[in-house]
Amino acid sequence: ERAREILESVKERDETRLGVEAMELLDAYGIETPEGAIIDDPADALEVAEEIDGNVVMKIVSPDILHKSDIGGVKVGVSNEDVYDAYEDLITRAKNYQPDANILGVQVQEMVDLDNGVETIVGMNRDPQFGPLMMFGLGGIFVEILEDTTFRVAPVAESEAEDMTKEIDAAPMLRGARGNEPVDIDGITETIQRLSQLVTDFPAILELDINPLVALPDGVKAVDVRLTVD
Ligand code: ADP
Ligand code: MG
Repeated sequence: ERAREILESVKERDETRLGVEAMELLDAYGIETPEGAIIDDPADALEVAEEIDGNVVMKIVSPDILHKSDIGGVKVGVSNEDVYDAYEDLITRAKNYQPDANILGVQVQEMVDLDNGVETIVGMNRDPQFGPLMMFGLGGIFVEILEDTTFRVAPVAESEAEDMTKEIDAAPMLRGARGNEPVDIDGITETIQRLSQLVTDFPAILELDINPLVALPDGVKAVDVRLTVD
């Protein structure tokens, strides 16, 4: 129900591309996201940061800027005392990039432990022939370089989702290569299925990527999302 409300409000605003402002959609389908909030004022940013343990990540939130890192729009490891400067800098960068960009604010987010996790990608693209194609692969900056991905038509069954986690070349990384702890593969499998359900329920979602879905030893976290709706 919450998901329907979100997508209807998007339609009313005549938007077709969405970024992290759509994270609630994932929450609505039980996909875990990091603690945090989107605010549009530096004082609020500090308040959110103070509620989160340790340093935070701050990201520009704009439907016109969907590759945030490309414009320096993601700041990792921001201490509370740097929150104000980081906020102003993110807004300045966005305006320099595109003076008329629609800036919704800044997301202040809990840091996810990448040292003990693997950045994966879970996505969906509607193929004219096959329909909704679910994709799983190695995420983060490696996606384009390695093209280590695998596909299934949605809705995917549990066994299919499991197979996807086994098929990519990087599968050994998930199972604990080189003395690293294995990550929560059941969590990945569940996320693929939950996302498959979301895009099956809402044909208006044309494409969607969670990149990265950080897979940790004790769970998974959807750190970033972007989607296109019709
Ligand atoms: P974009 O893909 O638009 O550049 P992301 O939100 O995916 O923006 O951030 C880019 C990269 O920054 C991620 O792939 C990840 O390596 C890192 N990052 C983003 N958010 C976090 C977080 N909460 N904790 C740790 N690292 C993060
Ligand atoms: Mg990303």
